[in-house]
Amino acid sequence: MAIDWVLAGKILWFAGVAAWVAIRWVPNRRSRKAPKEFTARSPRERLSMVVSWFGLGGIPALWAIAGAPAAFDHSQNWMLVAVGTALFALSLRLFRVTHKALGAMWSHSLDLRKDHKLVMTGIYEKLRHPMYSAFWLWALAQPFLLANWIAGFSGLVGFGTLYFLRIGEEEAMMEERFGEEYRTYRKRTARIIPGIY
Ligand code: SAH
Repeated sequence: MAIDWVLAGKILWFAGVAAWVAIRWVPNRRSRKAPKEFTARSPRERLSMVVSWFGLGGIPALWAIAGAPAAFDHSQNWMLVAVGTALFALSLRLFRVTHKALGAMWSHSLDLRKDHKLVMTGIYEKLRHPMYSAFWLWALAQPFLLANWIAGFSGLVGFGTLYFLRIGEEEAMMEERFGEEYRTYRKRTARIIPGIY
């Protein structure tokens, strides 16, 4: 029996997103209840979150379900699907690890909790933004799993927009809050790729 690799890629993509929703479920409910002491969510930040979700979810789902925009479809094979699955699996693993490490300090956007603690242990010993590494891996998995140029690359554009608009503000907020402690931490860690960037 011939396997439909286009369909297989779509199914694996949906499975990845479903697993991600499951990983976020409890942290998400906790985060809603936990009081914020400060927020730096600007209209630009809110808009870039929408853009990011179109790229990581909306546009791929539209293509996977409705087939649009079909003019940008391309061929698929088992190797691309395998690479995409491995990248998504790695991303999910990293999501779990980062959620565990951040615990109650986690939020969707630029917020500080009451008695916010700077997490510098575990994966945060090497990286300042491992959860964003996980999102990059997700975005990188999409062009392999989704056999359409638009649906495949929308995640990199969408999350890329959020990442580059947010990262400076997030670090400025952390520096403002934690001062010298954060400056030293920043000096000895990388943002998203260990030892490189
Ligand atoms: N940028 C981090 C966290 C993303 S969640 C990552 O990619 O892993 C965003 C929230 O996490 C921010 O509002 C900030 O308050 C909080 N945060 C970011 N880095 C943190 C750290 N090292 N310790 C505690 N909280 C942190």
